[in-house]
Amino acid sequence: MTLVFVETDENGEVALTSAEALTFARTNASALLPQLPDGAPDTSREVAAPPSGSTEAVVVGPLSEEAVGELSRLGVSRIHHLESADLEAYSAPAWAQAIVDIAPETGAVLASGTPRGMELMTHVAMRTGERMAANVVAADEEGLLRQVLGGAAFERLQLDGDLQVLTLAGHACNPEETTPTTPEILTHSPESAAEDLRTRVVRTEVETAADNDTSGLTQARAVVGAGRGVGSENGFGEVLELVDHLGGALGVSRVVTGLGWRPHSEQVGQTGSRITPDVYIACGISGAIQHMAGIEGAKTLIAINTDEESTMVQRADYAIIGDLHEVVGAVNEEIRSRRG
Ligand SMILES: Cc1cc2nc3c(=O)[nH]c(=O)nc-3n(C[C@H](O)[C@H](O)[C@H](O)COP(=O)(O)OP(=O)(O)OC[C@H]3O[C@@H](n4cnc5c(N)ncnc54)[C@H](O)[C@@H]3O)c2cc1C
Repeated sequence: MTLVFVETDENGEVALTSAEALTFARTNASALLPQLPDGAPDTSREVAAPPSGSTEAVVVGPLSEEAVGELSRLGVSRIHHLESADLEAYSAPAWAQAIVDIAPETGAVLASGTPRGMELMTHVAMRTGERMAANVVAADEEGLLRQVLGGAAFERLQLDGDLQVLTLAGHACNPEETTPTTPEILTHSPESAAEDLRTRVVRTEVETAADNDTSGLTQARAVVGAGRGVGSENGFGEVLELVDHLGGALGVSRVVTGLGWRPHSEQVGQTGSRITPDVYIACGISGAIQHMAGIEGAKTLIAINTDEESTMVQRADYAIIGDLHEVVGAVNEEIRSRRG
C-alpha cells in the first residue's frame, strides 16, 4: 500500500502537486509495493488493509466534499482524515508523527516535493528509521529514478527496508483521473507530544476579497491565458503587457496557480473560472481537458506554443508556433509602434 500525504488549497481542493503524487502512486503501484512473500497479507495495521498496491491518502485538517470527490476520481481507496486541536496549526514534527502512526510497516509513504512535503517526509523517514529518496521521477522493477542537480542529471537508486519514503519531483507525472472509487474515510484525532509542538505556524495571511474577485476575468472580452510555458513567476511581463493593450484580463492554468505564480482567482478551467470572451489567446498552455472545459465558450481561440502537436494548437482557430516571450514581445512592439 502507498500512503500519500495530500495537501489542499484554500478552497479545499486537492493541490495539483498532490494529484500528481496520487497519480504516480497509482500508476507505479507494483514498483512501490513492499516485497511481501507471494500473496502474504499485510498484518501490520490495526485496521484491515485493502489489497496491496492500493493508494491511500492522508489529509490533515478540513476535508471538503470536493476533495473527497477529487480523491475518488484519482483512485484513492481510503482517506485518513487527521483532525485534532494539536494538528490545527502546521507543525512538521506533530504532523509527521501522526502520519507515522498510520503508515504501513511495509509499502511506501509518498508526498509531492513541495516545501511541506519535503519537510514532512524527512521527519517521517527519521522517525521510522527508514531510508528516503527525494525528487523521484520514476519507479520500476530496477528501483527508483530521481533527479539531482536541479534536474540536470538523474540517478538510479534502490531503497532497502520495508518502507520506502519518497518525495516526487514537481511535474514528474501528469495528474490523471481514473474510474471513481468509493473511498472509505477513517477519522483519526491524535494527541501530539508536547515536544512535537514546539515549532508551529502561528500566523497565516489570507487573501482579501479583492484578491478572490473573478469578475474581471469572467466578463472580459479578451483574455490572455498563460501556462507553465511562461517559465517562472517572473515570466509574465509580455503577457501582462498584452492584457493591458487589449484592455482584457489574464487567465492562467492550474499549474500556474499550483506553483504559486499567480492567485487562484485567475485560474481558468474545470476548477477555475469558465469564460466566454470574444478571443482567448493561450500562451504556453498545453490544452489539458480540465483547462479546455473553462474556455469552451471562447469565440476565437489563438494558441502560442512551441509544440505544434499540443492539444491547444490542434484545437485553435489560429496558432503561432514559437517561444511565447518572443512572439508576444513582437506583438506588443507592433501595437506600441502602431499606437505611436
Ligand atoms: C481534478 C483536476 C482538476 C484540474 N483543473 C484544472 C483547471 O481548472 N484548469 C487548468 O488549467 N488545469 C486543471 N488541471 C490540471 C491539468 O490537468 C493540467 O495539468 C494543466 O492544465 C496543465 O497546465 P499547462 O498547460 O500550463 O502546463 P503544461 O501541460 O506543462 O503545458 C505547458 C505548455 O507550454 C508549452 N511551452 C513551454 N515553453 C514554452 C515557450 N517558451 N513558449 C511557448 N510555449 C511553451 C509546452 O509546449 C506545453 O504545451 C486539473 C487537473 C486535475 C487532476
